[in-house]
Amino acid sequence: MQRAVSFERSRLLLVLATSVVLGGVTGYWAWCIALGGFGLAAYQIRRGHDVARWLTGTDAEPSVYEGLWAFIASEIHRERRQNTRQRREISRLLRRYRDSAEALPDAAVLVDHQRQIQWANRKAHDLLGIDNATDRGQRVDNLLRDPAVQALWQHNRPGAETQARSPQDERVHLTLRLSRYGEGALLVAQDVSAVMAAQEMRQTFVANASHELRTPLTVVAGHLELLADDPALPDHVEQSLQSAHREANRMLAIVEDLLTLTSLENTHLSDAQSEPIAVAAEVSDLVEATRLAEHYRGQTLSLDLDAGLCLRGRTTEVMSVVRNLVNNALRHTEPEDDISLRWSRDEVGRPTFSVTDTGTGIAPEHLAHLTERFYRVDAGRSRDTGGTGLGLSIVKHIVSRHSGELLIDSEPGRGSTFSARFPPDRAC
Ligand code: ADP
Repeated sequence: MQRAVSFERSRLLLVLATSVVLGGVTGYWAWCIALGGFGLAAYQIRRGHDVARWLTGTDAEPSVYEGLWAFIASEIHRERRQNTRQRREISRLLRRYRDSAEALPDAAVLVDHQRQIQWANRKAHDLLGIDNATDRGQRVDNLLRDPAVQALWQHNRPGAETQARSPQDERVHLTLRLSRYGEGALLVAQDVSAVMAAQEMRQTFVANASHELRTPLTVVAGHLELLADDPALPDHVEQSLQSAHREANRMLAIVEDLLTLTSLENTHLSDAQSEPIAVAAEVSDLVEATRLAEHYRGQTLSLDLDAGLCLRGRTTEVMSVVRNLVNNALRHTEPEDDISLRWSRDEVGRPTFSVTDTGTGIAPEHLAHLTERFYRVDAGRSRDTGGTGLGLSIVKHIVSRHSGELLIDSEPGRGSTFSARFPPDRAC
């Protein structure tokens, strides 16, 4: 640039010198200097005009000049070449991203902050009925009207997901995930029909097998009880029959729990099934009954129940949660231990039922698995105390059917707290 400036300076000096010499020769100083200045200004305007026409796309690139205009033109030229290169690179990258998004087995829809469709891949047409060519600019929530999908937009946490049927084909089950980024969001829908079919088959099998086993087991348990009651039996035969009766009853309890789990898995909790539950009164009654029941061995039971707080839900299910948690606390504590039951709102207003005991406690590596079917920390103790290994699975299912979550906090040797926490809108 320095060179261009010096060139302009020399040119100015040359024009000035020529004008002075001409002025000296002709005697018209002022006229000659004015003419020189005017000529130089006209030349610069002309070159500037050429460059401006080139920039606005009216003319071809101006032929190379010297001085400042040449410098400006070559700088613009260089910048333009660089921009073209970058644009090409960006379009290549964009094409690659689009090609890879097209190759996805899932539907992908990009929306802006107003939920207007920016782009959708081919699979979005097959699974969601959204066409990239015709639906761009439309609001995605006008096209996907399933209430479960509508609710997805209300979630603000990252990676919210829901299940829905495909609007294109009722038989297709979808899992929809919404990931927000910057101002927009990416909606991904995955066809999970095969997984759902396999799950349904497993559930039907378990339900049928449990159903088939229930009747013969009830008969066997009844006969064993009758036989064991015979006073004429020798002691060792009576003991064998009693043990067989206990095992038959345990099998019956497992069958009942499996049937309960299957029914919880297959159905949704509708608003019509929800009723106001006076949890405090129900828990007090249950504790009275518990003091007379088989698992109670003299533990200290204390209650802290908010009688003014009720829960909207299904009474039989919520009380099954309470019963399971209280029975677990009784079975995993010693007679001198304490068990406290609490029903109240937590610090952000969520209705929470918790059972805290000072019993055996649970090592951290087991905590994540406790709600799996048949997972037991101490299988012997669970069996001896009449456990089926399904109690916490049932609790977890019921709590999530009520849109809540099960929290477990435990430390070996110190005891455990199991809490069923429900969303604030379930309080009444
Ligand atoms: P189970 O019928 O074996 O009690 P659950 O599903 O109710 O089955 O519980 C799973 C396992 O969790 C139990 O076997 C036990 O090891 C552990 N557990 C549950 N509640 C407690 C508790 N209050 N204290 C210690 N361990 C517990």
